[in-house]
Amino acid sequence: MSIKEYFVSIFKGFYSLIKGMEVTGKELVTPKVTEQYPENRAELQIPERFRATLEFIYDENGNHKCVACGNCERNCPNQTIKITKHMAELPDGKKKMKLDEYLYDLGSCTFCGLCVQACAFNAIRFSNDFEQAVFTREKLVKQLNYLPEKDDAPAPALAAKPSAPAAVEKPATPSADETNQETKENKE
Ligand code: SF4
Ligand code: SF4
Repeated sequence: MSIKEYFVSIFKGFYSLIKGMEVTGKELVTPKVTEQYPENRAELQIPERFRATLEFIYDENGNHKCVACGNCERNCPNQTIKITKHMAELPDGKKKMKLDEYLYDLGSCTFCGLCVQACAFNAIRFSNDFEQAVFTREKLVKQLNYLPEKDDAPAPALAAKPSAPAAVEKPATPSADETNQETKENKE
């Protein structure tokens, strides 16, 4: 190796070192994005629409709106939902379908949301509570109707559908007679 080549290789090595330090220096002043989980659990921002697990919607009196119609169960593509129900007689003599168990298997859910869309009573929703880790698969099967069923619970109403857009008023179409009259006048 000549003296020239020797100094060129030293220069290249030094240049490469400066480039590397430049990248390291930039990272030193870049804001940190690493999540210190679970230490930062209290400040974690989970998107509201994140689908973590299915849950029943309970009102302030502890009533849910599920009428055990089975629409969600039928629409689930992989049998994640299992519903058992019975026909109950109400105090006024009427008969009503009552839910016994609403089982949801988080382990087989693909979070497609078809069950929520299929429910006409707005009885279920996805919670964004992402901490669902358990030690056995059996614990992933959850009973969503965890509060005792009340026989005198009021019948839930159908979920309101989005209102149809206002009809656009069409301009009045001239009648056949009016059109013929206009054509005649134009010819004259
Ligand atoms: S959650 Fe909704 S769709 Fe499913 S059984 Fe209950 S009322 Fe029917
Ligand atoms: S999100 Fe999809 S896979 Fe999960 S329970 Fe609902 S329909 Fe079934």
